Amino acid sequence: MDCIFCKIVEGTLPSTKVYESDTVIAFQDIKPEASVHILIIPKKHIATMNDVTADDDQVMAELFTAARQIAIEQGIAESGYRLINNVNSDGGQLVYHLHFHLLGGEKLGPLNA
Ligand code: 5GP
Ligand code: ZN
Repeated sequence: MDCIFCKIVEGTLPSTKVYESDTVIAFQDIKPEASVHILIIPKKHIATMNDVTADDDQVMAELFTAARQIAIEQGIAESGYRLINNVNSDGGQLVYHLHFHLLGGEKLGPLNA
């Protein structure tokens, strides 16, 4: 499958990983938009939030668990951060493998700037 995030999961495309479990990995965004910008993804290929089913309840919970843990590890849990999921064209989704952007480490601008 021609999915860059599946290639990152497989290890055929390099990434700077900051977290890995059986079902989830997180890595540095290649083009960071804040001093902390990490992508948190399921290892399973799910194209968009619209494609999540009840079968994915556990993996969805693990994505949020990872986000909380990474925020602590990055030292931004108390100062604050943003967790963003872009869906389809109007949402600005460019990579069609479900991912959450964890952004922080600075005062973030307006959400829809
Ligand atoms: P989207 O717009 O789909 O929500 O965000 C996709 C994100 O993936 C962008 O922030 C982009 O910089 C990041 N990205 C795209 N290609 C790569 C890559 O090959 N490696 C990494 N680490 N990030 C990527
Ligand atoms: Zn994929």
